[in-house]
Amino acid sequence: MKLIDFSKQFPDEQSCRDYFREQRQKEGITCKNCKGTSHYWMKTIEQFQCKTCRTRTTLRSGTVMESSNLSFSDWFTAMHLMTATKKGISAKEMQRQLGFKRYEPIWFMMQKIRVAMGARDERYELSGFTEMDEGYFTTVESATVGEKNKKVKRGRGSEKQTPVLVMAQTEYVENPKNHKQHSRCKFFKMKVMPNLESKTINMLVKDSLNPATEVKTDSFSSYKRLNEVINQHVSKVIPPKQAGIELPWVHIAISNAKKNLLNNFHHVDDTYLQNYLDEFTYRLNRRYFGGKLFGRLLIACVSFCWII
Ligand SMILES: [Zn+2]
Repeated sequence: MKLIDFSKQFPDEQSCRDYFREQRQKEGITCKNCKGTSHYWMKTIEQFQCKTCRTRTTLRSGTVMESSNLSFSDWFTAMHLMTATKKGISAKEMQRQLGFKRYEPIWFMMQKIRVAMGARDERYELSGFTEMDEGYFTTVESATVGEKNKKVKRGRGSEKQTPVLVMAQTEYVENPKNHKQHSRCKFFKMKVMPNLESKTINMLVKDSLNPATEVKTDSFSSYKRLNEVINQHVSKVIPPKQAGIELPWVHIAISNAKKNLLNNFHHVDDTYLQNYLDEFTYRLNRRYFGGKLFGRLLIACVSFCWII
């Protein structure tokens, strides 16, 4: 959505609140007390009331905005900037754009939006033909931040390489034009891994891919038991120089994600790496949505529930 359209549609706090209420009503409100789904809207106090047990639900309750003190307008502007910019935006820049003195509330808001993005993508599994490979992302170990007796740079923990499993669903292209790839990418998943043991990989694959998927990987030993969880596994000995040709889309995604993280965040705390990857993947999977992306993200935030 362009800035001019965003400003026209959401000129003030009330327009944001009204739109948010409409979206909540479309998605459906569930009563915390009796799980009833029929509610009245009480205009004067801007709350929903359950038709069965009269329990009230605030506009923010049960959404990503629950317990936030920031205005709807701030949340909307943040969602707009996170979707209108191709490469994302840092919390520092967001703080500047929103005119806030304090950095922390803005940082937390953006992390919550990223969690909602990740939860939305969790709903979908990849299928068809899928490339898979692991990448290593440079992160800072959060546990060591602030520990005085360790030889770490001030304010930062020691750097480490965090393994990430990357999956790209692709489609075969019969006659590619102008020497382009023989495959077209569709959807991606990027998951931070506690380790790269075959048991851990298989557990993630079971959750992320349709069992009928055909997966292509290199000959890394931890991929050897993939056929226990998916229909077909093609394992190929791939020399490092050929990796970009044999598994093109995962490699493009890994390289772009690294550039994106480096540009926006400089140092990524390992605790939050998944959130940053979720934001990157969310935008990547919806790269053709154009102006619709803001509305979709809002729905993801409305229907996201912290109590899962
Ligand atoms: Zn109720």
